[in-house]
Amino acid sequence: MTRPSTLLENQLLRTRQLVLQLVAVGYLIFTIGSSFVAPPGVFPEAYQYSKYWADLICLGALVALYLAPRRVFQIAVVCAACVAGLAGLEMYRLLQHDLPPYEPALWMTCVCIVAFVLMGSRWGSVFTGVALLIVLIFLLLIPPSTPQLTAAWLAGMTVVGVISGVCYRVTRFIESNLVMHEEDHAKLNKARLDSLTELPGRAAIEEELNRKLEYARKTGTPLSLLVGDIDHFKTVNDHHGHNTGDDVLRAVAKRLRRNVGGTGGVVGRWGGEEFVVLLPGLAKPDALVLADRLRREIGGSELAGLSITTSFGVASYRGPHDTANQLFGRADQALYEAKRAGRNSVR
Ligand code: GH3
Ligand code: MG
Ligand code: MG
Repeated sequence: MTRPSTLLENQLLRTRQLVLQLVAVGYLIFTIGSSFVAPPGVFPEAYQYSKYWADLICLGALVALYLAPRRVFQIAVVCAACVAGLAGLEMYRLLQHDLPPYEPALWMTCVCIVAFVLMGSRWGSVFTGVALLIVLIFLLLIPPSTPQLTAAWLAGMTVVGVISGVCYRVTRFIESNLVMHEEDHAKLNKARLDSLTELPGRAAIEEELNRKLEYARKTGTPLSLLVGDIDHFKTVNDHHGHNTGDDVLRAVAKRLRRNVGGTGGVVGRWGGEEFVVLLPGLAKPDALVLADRLRREIGGSELAGLSITTSFGVASYRGPHDTANQLFGRADQALYEAKRAGRNSVR
């Protein structure tokens, strides 16, 4: 099972998706464009084959990204392997034609920078290392015909190496900051979780609601709020003890989380035996349907060995002037009505 992505991971993922798309589309435009400017035959044959293969790799990357948008790293690794193989072929032909290294050095620099962005510092340096090694092996196998040309090749590859070194430092710096940020984030979040149910506590939910409200205001998308309260919970404690009561709370939390998970909603413990569910993107009719499903899920089978029912109040965002307090007020009022209507119901 994949663990839920954090905000930072998602941002990084989106950046990488965008970079991969831009590079692939950019390269395709470049090669198609350059075919018009310099039709086949103008460049040495050696370049032409590589161009077509690189076009195929870019197309493959675009299709793969479309089919599996979250697998940017894996797609980048496959592309990098293909590009490294291609670079080997290209080197072989260039050296056989005794051509200077300027163009390959430029390309290698660009590809290495992109590799660091897409694959991170570790795999970026593996890629750069392998690419430089391939070049070195070819230089030994097919030495250039003049010392000047050899010197030019070595100088070109040194430039690639130095720029990759800088890329390594920069990506390392970004990654270590990301990790630190992420750890702080995780610690902070843990401190804000309710210790009994491990759901976000009141403060975390309030903050999350404000964020979601802001988003709803900006985009005009719907947002709904459920407040759920276990019916006659006091009697559970009175008849079965406080520990059983705690088990019931944990079981209800688990069931809520399981059933809300797929909707992009957030479940929290408001306090006592009251739970809150934030449902971004859901308007009132859908939120009512979901609340009723939650009610049936909880009431449908025993929890911690007991038959438990819950009541839910539903409120939805009404427009730019609606506040978190008003939203909570309406959800509370609806919950009160659900209780008055005999409990085990949704209003
Ligand atoms: P209603 O159907 O009107 O909601 O009745 P109720 O008995 O559920 O409502 P009430 O608010 O009177 O009771 C809530 C009870 O929840 C009282 C309190 O002892 C219990 N409670 C609050 N927090 C916890 C907790 O963390 N663990 C346990 N076991 N009980 C808790
Ligand atoms: Mg209550
Ligand atoms: Mg109650």
